[in-house]
Amino acid sequence: MCVFGTRPEAVKLAPVVQFLKSSSVLRPIIALTAQHREMLDQMLSWFSIKPDYDLNLMRPGQSLAQLTASVLLEMDNLLARTQPNMVLVQGDTATVMAASLAAFYQKIPVGHVEAGLRTHDRYNPFPEEMARRQTGRLATLHFAPTKRAVENLQREGISENVFMTGNTVIDALLDTAERIKGISVDKKLFGGVNFERHRVILVTAHRRENWGTGISDIAQALRRIADEFTDVQILYPIHRNPIVRESVEPVFAGHERMFLVEPLDYVPFVYAMQHSYLVLTDSGGVQEEAPTLKKPVLVMRTNTERPEALESGAARLVGIEQDNIVAATKLLLTNSDEYKKMISQDNPYGDGQASRRIVQEIEKFLG
Ligand code: UDP
Repeated sequence: MCVFGTRPEAVKLAPVVQFLKSSSVLRPIIALTAQHREMLDQMLSWFSIKPDYDLNLMRPGQSLAQLTASVLLEMDNLLARTQPNMVLVQGDTATVMAASLAAFYQKIPVGHVEAGLRTHDRYNPFPEEMARRQTGRLATLHFAPTKRAVENLQREGISENVFMTGNTVIDALLDTAERIKGISVDKKLFGGVNFERHRVILVTAHRRENWGTGISDIAQALRRIADEFTDVQILYPIHRNPIVRESVEPVFAGHERMFLVEPLDYVPFVYAMQHSYLVLTDSGGVQEEAPTLKKPVLVMRTNTERPEALESGAARLVGIEQDNIVAATKLLLTNSDEYKKMISQDNPYGDGQASRRIVQEIEKFLG
């Protein structure tokens, strides 16, 4: 049973589901908790994944405890009815942790995709760091994307059934980049952005620990950049969360080269990444995707569980201080050597074969 809660889980489990479907011995059952509703649905539709069960647990304003409790109870119920041989989860959401616990209580083995990512700071990112640590303890099979992730698990005493597979995000992205070649993307989705005439900076920022001053500082930094560089446009597909929107909307309002747009479906988002000059983000997945598409990525966080691209030089950690964000962005807008240095690196997150490896290991494990 593959369990999906949010947009990134859909992107990163979709290629695994495709391989499960083509296995002669395994059959995937798709269960949604739908912790995030609309953003999850559009992803599933692009990857042609039809849910067998939809728990539909998103409620406006629900607390993390309420969400966790309902995933635990509803998954308990569903697992009791369906009795899968394995539960497969991806990443570090409340869905992942609570579904893993529900499976553990019924002695159903859990396979954890994207295991072993750590910042070693329990509150950053919050609550993801704790969700993935707990899932690491509960899981039986650990699909670690990189060597570093394997080492993180070993340090916690987890060394059995740990497989270094690469990250499935690359499988999904390469497949999508190929499929969108034949599709015409609706440019109206990008507000007034013109990729041919401007250098476009693509921004995503919505992490819980950046809510409030963090996000409004990010917005102020973007405005300073847009004011100074008249050939630059800013494209910010903004998360639906009203707390995030309140901090950003007043800063973007009325600026002719700054565009706040609705969250983009995956296909237009990939198109925007491909055609941008530079990516600024606090997202996890985007840190992996941008280097794959040879776009420099500045990470607006104080730490990251994905240090591989920092080490290779494809990404830089710039924090959330306005001045630092502005300085790092200006450097890439004005210094072509610095820019080239960042895009000449190999992608450290995978080779597009992660899903195949994961399914092979599941087949072996289940005999
Ligand atoms: N994404 C998208 N539309 C957007 C912004 C992001 O499709 O407007 C995709 C992006 O390509 C990546 C995933 O959503 O695959 C990342 O999701 P998010 O930032 O919500 O989660 P995180 O990766 O931080 O867990």
